[in-house]
Amino acid sequence: MKNYCYRYIFITLLGMFSLAPATETPSDRYVIYTANINATLQNCGCGKIPLGGIDRIKTLVDSFRAVHPGVILLDGGDFLNSYPFPELNKATLNALDRLMYTFLVPGEHEFVAGFEMVKQHFEGNLLLSNIRWNENPGTISEYLTGNLRFRAVIDVGCFERIDLPGGRINPDLINIISDQRSDSVYDIVVYHGSLNHIFEGSFDVQGAGMILLAHDQYSGVQYVSGVPVVGAGKDGEQIVIITISERFETEIRHIKITERIKPDPAVVRISRQLDQEMGRN
Ligand SMILES: [Zn+2]
Repeated sequence: MKNYCYRYIFITLLGMFSLAPATETPSDRYVIYTANINATLQNCGCGKIPLGGIDRIKTLVDSFRAVHPGVILLDGGDFLNSYPFPELNKATLNALDRLMYTFLVPGEHEFVAGFEMVKQHFEGNLLLSNIRWNENPGTISEYLTGNLRFRAVIDVGCFERIDLPGGRINPDLINIISDQRSDSVYDIVVYHGSLNHIFEGSFDVQGAGMILLAHDQYSGVQYVSGVPVVGAGKDGEQIVIITISERFETEIRHIKITERIKPDPAVVRISRQLDQEMGRN
């Protein structure tokens, strides 16, 4: 009954935005995926739909979490600006902290102003599998929960114009992931790179249950050798909700972030404070 009430409140809050999967069983696992947020704290104000924004994403995530507290929330990277903008980047990290991400995967945007800044202003987990430098303090190389395993690979090509001070990328990790396949573990690989590279075979998808694409702003699902490659779009315009059954059957849904979703007040405050700092009010 309690669960039913929750669901009712949940659906009422979201109006026509029902986030409930088509079918569900108690053993189902849930993943919410975001990528390429590009420091979009609030919508662009440009009137184009979907409008996006971390403020509205937080409302959806909180609503989903109220029904499914075990949901795994992750971002595939490029959550900060692509050029130095310390005030905006700090505000974005502060806002992302409020969402209580299970982990963030840093993309090359997060190295523009130095990775120390990210670690200083974000308190949650940072998942890096193929970047090594100075022992990677404050980061994890994989995230294992039950029979779900997450790893993250950043394509070397993303760092053409950005320095990786004191660090190195291990390109062999791509092969390691396919070698470590296990029937009892469902491997989800966050691939920060381009969809074309996957189609060209430079990233071997064999051995993965699912690829979550970031950096490439593609939105949707394409299959490569039977493995779903899931793109989450850009600028916080949508989130992806993934349901994984005990038998590793999956349901993948893209939810657009529109003006009908109420902005979260805490994130709105962070955004307003930034405006004041920048003398924009
Ligand atoms: Zn990127």
